[in-house]
Amino acid sequence: MAADPDASSPILTFNRAEKSYGDDGDVIAVGGVDCTIAARSFVALVGASGSGKSTLLKMVNTLVEPSAGRVLFGGEDVTALNQSHLRRRVGYVFQGIGLFPHITVRENIAIGPRLAGERLQPSRIEELLTLVELEPEMAGRMPDELSGGQRQRVGVARALAGDPEMLLMDEPFGALDPITRDALGEKVRELHNRLGLTTVMVTHDMAEALLLADRVLVMDGGFLVADETPASLLAGGGGEIAQGLVAVPRQQAERLAAMEAAGANHGNTAP
Ligand code: ADP
Ligand code: MG
Repeated sequence: MAADPDASSPILTFNRAEKSYGDDGDVIAVGGVDCTIAARSFVALVGASGSGKSTLLKMVNTLVEPSAGRVLFGGEDVTALNQSHLRRRVGYVFQGIGLFPHITVRENIAIGPRLAGERLQPSRIEELLTLVELEPEMAGRMPDELSGGQRQRVGVARALAGDPEMLLMDEPFGALDPITRDALGEKVRELHNRLGLTTVMVTHDMAEALLLADRVLVMDGGFLVADETPASLLAGGGGEIAQGLVAVPRQQAERLAAMEAAGANHGNTAP
């Protein structure tokens, strides 16, 4: 890893990246994305279901190959990089894919390096568990002996096992209760800062994106339709689709504030 990369230097570039499916290529999942992501930035990728977020993320670690255009990581086309090196440099928390149920937490965390022919030392497993605020003793547990939040923490530890430069997360906290979700989001942001990571997090939750990210990309129908800072989105920027997403948490906050002002009686006038 470079000693101290310039915070503004691009680590990831989508160059008219495009992906279509179907015999005639008529299902456009990603319709030509041009975008540059600076090293050490925390980027949220937001959009409705089916807008192409997962497909765009999968192009980075070559799980999906572009139909046209290119994806550059550190200036090099990802398809030309040594794939096991690439998978080490890019940690991935997959959408909906949890831990392997029949192996221990320790083995789950070590699986990436193991597939690359490397054994993680017990001290490293302990270090990774500590990073995500789990007890080292949990290494010997099976996934079904953990809470949902603890499992997601193991998922993050697994993504960090190869000491990556970049962390990609696809709706990592989707299935969690709001309090656990909030705590894990804060934890990931703290790890991002502490480890000097570049993070791209897919979420459909605009509030989460605004609270955690430095930059918010909005996708719609396979295209990037907004690229804004949280401050700019809150000030009304980014266009209609982005503002439609911002309106949801804003209206909730306004309704809560109004309820608080009215004494939280839900408009009920009974004593
Ligand atoms: P998101 O993550 O934003 O929900 P996806 O990237 O998963 O969206 O999907 C974008 C579009 O591409 C959707 O219309 C989806 O049905 C389609 N798609 C994704 N993967 C495939 C695939 N393997 N085969 C065919 N269509 C796909
Ligand atoms: Mg998805």
